[in-house]
Amino acid sequence: MKNVNEDIAHLLVDAEALYEDAPCGYCSFRPDGTIIKINRTLLTWLGYAAGDVVGQLRITDLFSKGGRIYYEMFYYPLVQMTGVVKEISFEIFRKDGTSFPGLLNANVIRDQAQQIVAINCVLIDITDRKKYESELLNAKKFAELAKDQFEFVSDYIPEMIWTATPAGEINYVNKRFADYLGIEPLNNSIPVLSACIHPDDRLQSLRGWVRGIRAGKPFQIQLRLKDASGIYKWHLLKSVPYPQTGAIVKWLGSCLDIHAHVMEVEQKDEFISVASHELRTPVTGLKLSLQLLSRMNSGGEKQTQLLDQASRNVRKIAGLIDDLLNVDRLKTGQLPLNRTLFQISDLLRNCCTVIQTENEQRLEVSGDTNAEVFADENRMEQVVVNLISNAIKYAPGSKKIILQAITIEGMVEVSVTDQGPGIAKEKVAHLFERYYRADHSGVKYSGLGLGLYISSEIVKKHGGMIGVQSEPGIGSRFWFTIPAPLKPDDTK
Ligand code: ADP
Repeated sequence: MKNVNEDIAHLLVDAEALYEDAPCGYCSFRPDGTIIKINRTLLTWLGYAAGDVVGQLRITDLFSKGGRIYYEMFYYPLVQMTGVVKEISFEIFRKDGTSFPGLLNANVIRDQAQQIVAINCVLIDITDRKKYESELLNAKKFAELAKDQFEFVSDYIPEMIWTATPAGEINYVNKRFADYLGIEPLNNSIPVLSACIHPDDRLQSLRGWVRGIRAGKPFQIQLRLKDASGIYKWHLLKSVPYPQTGAIVKWLGSCLDIHAHVMEVEQKDEFISVASHELRTPVTGLKLSLQLLSRMNSGGEKQTQLLDQASRNVRKIAGLIDDLLNVDRLKTGQLPLNRTLFQISDLLRNCCTVIQTENEQRLEVSGDTNAEVFADENRMEQVVVNLISNAIKYAPGSKKIILQAITIEGMVEVSVTDQGPGIAKEKVAHLFERYYRADHSGVKYSGLGLGLYISSEIVKKHGGMIGVQSEPGIGSRFWFTIPAPLKPDDTK
């Protein structure tokens, strides 16, 4: 029986066709360079017919003058010596005088007396590779130029700035920053920089840093940094990924001296702590006295009116003192939560009845009326009342104020929307800071700038988030979320 392999062998391996149409050029030449065999691919690249080349041209006729010298002086002696030479680049000239870059691989064929009779060579066209290499080189040069320009400009600006690798390794601090810290501009590894952080802030700052880098979103850290003379001052380290979307190639950041501001806030905190504790006792006494006086009131109209007015004012003062005490408690972590399960819509309606009696703006409740939360009801009421009171106070022209509760992804979101003057974009980021008050084009509103700070701390203590969307001239939507309680099914 005939061997099946023999039958199809001619179909499988046509060595001649493989040689002729290979994706690289093949040619063989004698020791004096005369070409004795060449494949179709190479002929096509060169623009010659086989008859123009075989026995007519030497391999060196395909090279430039410099290439010829190089071939004679180095390449051929090397081939003779080693028998094989790989990937040496030559500029190869076509029939029409144009050229392309090629890589020449050669190996020798010897007779029995070990005399070289021919050299086989493989030629690879590296035009694309060269183009790619030169594009890469240009891109590298461009990047280096951009880096130099960036460093030049950043060294002369008064701000302290830095850059870091995508993994968060600081790889550049500008001159101003290095001078401030008293370090070498290039000596900016993490250990050098972390030694400049106040020991009490170090762990927290590094944790915040790692968390921020992992999240891949802009973040900021407040920390004390030691200046060149050894004095610690508060700074705000801001970091932004570049680009903001897609794969991060670097982090850019600034470092702002906020020492005076932090000191001011600390002084206020201290004053408030002392004042609130000093005021609490006499105001409680005043409240009790008024209650007694009300009970003893003989019923005279004017007397009743004055007592009501006094009680209302004392309640207001007590509310303000409560806010001040809350700040102190929040700062020292002494605001315990008393959580129960309740329907958020009940809470919203309660808040409306408390407030609606005194104001003309219409309060509307909408959304998921069945949503339940497991939270401290009094504290939640404090947050919602604060948001509604703010809407009433700062959006007096808003005919209606919408309270909405919705459940999204395991969280209950409560929002208070007004159609008031809104808040300028640059102020929005500061609204939840202690003592921050935005100005409202000359209109003076009373307040301490603590309501939103307290609200945000209460929400955060519940594991939620708080925020605002506001458009000047359109209105504001303050919102907060708290985790929805787990249903029995969720725990499976
Ligand atoms: P306070 O009301 O005592 O100033 P808050 O912390 O409650 O303190 O509010 C901080 C600031 O936020 C306010 O001073 C005000 O400028 C701004 N603000 C709060 N709510 C609104 C609102 N609904 N519309 C416009 N501005 C608001």
